[in-house]
Amino acid sequence: LPSAKASESLSLSLQAKMSRPVQARRLEGIDKNIWVEFVKLAATYSTVNLGQGFPDFPPPDFLKEAFVRALSGENHMLHQYTRAFGHPPLVKMLAQFFGKLLGRDLDPMTNVMVTVGAYQALFCCFQAFVDEGDEVIIIEPFFDCYEPMVKMAGGMPVFVPLRPKAPKDGKLMSSADWQLDPAELASKFSERTKVIVLNSPNNPLGKVFSRGELELIADLCVKHDILCISDEVYEWLVYDGKEHIRIASLRGMWDRTVIIGSAGKTFSATGWKVGWTVGPNRLLQHLRTVHQNSVYHCATVAQEAVAQGFQRELDLYGKPESYFIQLPKLLQQKRDWLVQSLDAVGMKPIVPEGTYFLVADISQFKSDVPDVAGSDEPYDSRFAKWMVKNKGLAAIPLSAFYCGAHKNNYDHFIRFCFAKEEATLKAANDILQKWK
Ligand code: PMP
Repeated sequence: LPSAKASESLSLSLQAKMSRPVQARRLEGIDKNIWVEFVKLAATYSTVNLGQGFPDFPPPDFLKEAFVRALSGENHMLHQYTRAFGHPPLVKMLAQFFGKLLGRDLDPMTNVMVTVGAYQALFCCFQAFVDEGDEVIIIEPFFDCYEPMVKMAGGMPVFVPLRPKAPKDGKLMSSADWQLDPAELASKFSERTKVIVLNSPNNPLGKVFSRGELELIADLCVKHDILCISDEVYEWLVYDGKEHIRIASLRGMWDRTVIIGSAGKTFSATGWKVGWTVGPNRLLQHLRTVHQNSVYHCATVAQEAVAQGFQRELDLYGKPESYFIQLPKLLQQKRDWLVQSLDAVGMKPIVPEGTYFLVADISQFKSDVPDVAGSDEPYDSRFAKWMVKNKGLAAIPLSAFYCGAHKNNYDHFIRFCFAKEEATLKAANDILQKWK
């Protein structure tokens, strides 16, 4: 048996070890995450989950069949590592497809890189471009991971909000009514600015930036020699005949833009986690360095199936059978159902021009969830928690998509995901109609 003294010194040394800070400084202030809390609440209480952004309907048959073929076909090498920066059949397809969209010749090996979802594409960009103290402009409301990703890279996020304008003639507000103030946007660019993050179509508002708005951003990027991370994961989900314009196609922008996409959103298969980046080699070479030294590689079978999905879409490009034509049609109808359900009960919807999402104004429901004096939790967050617990309907507070300093300016909206089966949207409608 160890002597009492020996065991005392052992316990002291253990204590000393345990009291050492374990958390790297770069994680300070970013350890709390809204999704952990809201996903758990939805799992515990919701009967209808319109919170997190994923379809509850299946991906198209041609994609599932491609996956099964890849999985159980002759080519057993599809179960092994493939090329680190993207499975050759997939990068070739992406180069061909995006080459056609952008009207330029793309080299599959240097102008395209495959990532573990768009998430990892974003991570690679921030790690590759942002140095300690660099400023990164983020347009609010924003897909919430941009802020912690900039901070982890040592950068300083600089926020600029889209400003809502009241619609005329008692019409419903549209996501197009949320606009940048040109002078305010210009005032955010400085010598310290390295990157601007653009997300069009935008999560959570569903805003599709117009050509004029994109030109405004592009001119500032060129003038100040700024890079643009263009998150276009909802590129095919655009409604009412609106056009998705790629900022990389504007003058002076190709050389300074990384386009980010996601097979999850493109083919309704968010769990596959296949994403990509498209851009000039002078930018992508640095993404490859981060990718090589972090995840290295993405699932081969899923990449093979996505390549086949793109091959089909290339063959059917612009035809009515194309999934890229059918999916937005289907989603536009779902959007319209949810708009009607919400409007009927006075939870005023902001009609989105694109994406899976719809933001609604909860001001008229304030009497249901009274304000708590002195609480620093934004009202919409308390409302969304109350709603899932008491009505079984899950949604996400809009304040989650704002920085700490601006959260309380936008605290009376919640975001719904309408990429859901008809039965799910009907169940949501039942809850809303019974409520009011
Ligand atoms: N960007 C935006 C704007 C998103 O909404 C999402 C997913 N919610 C992503 C990126 C991440 O996409 P993926 O699932 O392909 O990682």
